[in-house]
Amino acid sequence: MKDDKKDEKLMRVVEEKISICTACPLSQTRTNVVPGEGNIHSPVIFVGEGPGEDEDLSGRPFVGKAGQLFDKILESAGFVRKTLYITNIVKCRPPQNRVPSSEEILSCSHFLMAQIAIINPQIIVPLGATALNFFMSGSITESRGKFFEWKGNIRIFPMFHPSYLLRNQSKESGSPKALTWDDIRILKKAYDEIMTQGT
Ligand code: SF4
Repeated sequence: MKDDKKDEKLMRVVEEKISICTACPLSQTRTNVVPGEGNIHSPVIFVGEGPGEDEDLSGRPFVGKAGQLFDKILESAGFVRKTLYITNIVKCRPPQNRVPSSEEILSCSHFLMAQIAIINPQIIVPLGATALNFFMSGSITESRGKFFEWKGNIRIFPMFHPSYLLRNQSKESGSPKALTWDDIRILKKAYDEIMTQGT
């Protein structure tokens, strides 16, 4: 039986620890930490690579151009963003939006694992290759749009990162964008099934 109040308190403790973390060099160049946001009771959580410039300035995940596209993707399938939980592998912006190093990912990973333990989602959606490879090996192109068993009863459902879609604007059949619009519908169907079981 989940204790909602206890979970909220635990998440605040994790966020406070993130806010003062200096465990890796990204702490020296960040403006704000970006712990993550949303519904900690969501059965689905989205995990990106790391904060970009807009996220670093605001302290919120997925609010820049890629975030706006992400919102459109969610809305296209009928998701309401605030009912979901959204975070990143690393909680501080890598300079020039470079890929976080394996040392930085390792230093930060206990925060993400703590968030996952508190939320206990049924589905984790890694957005892009870096997030995918945190959870499992494989190529994002081959893995996206499929479910994989992870730890416990959690399934992994990889999708392309919205930043990648911004660089690949084609909407033709088989393009990354078209495939993503298919993937989000598959995810919504799984989400609806979970929500129906819970009622
Ligand atoms: S990226 Fe993670 S480990 Fe590095 S300083 Fe930020 S919170 Fe700490």
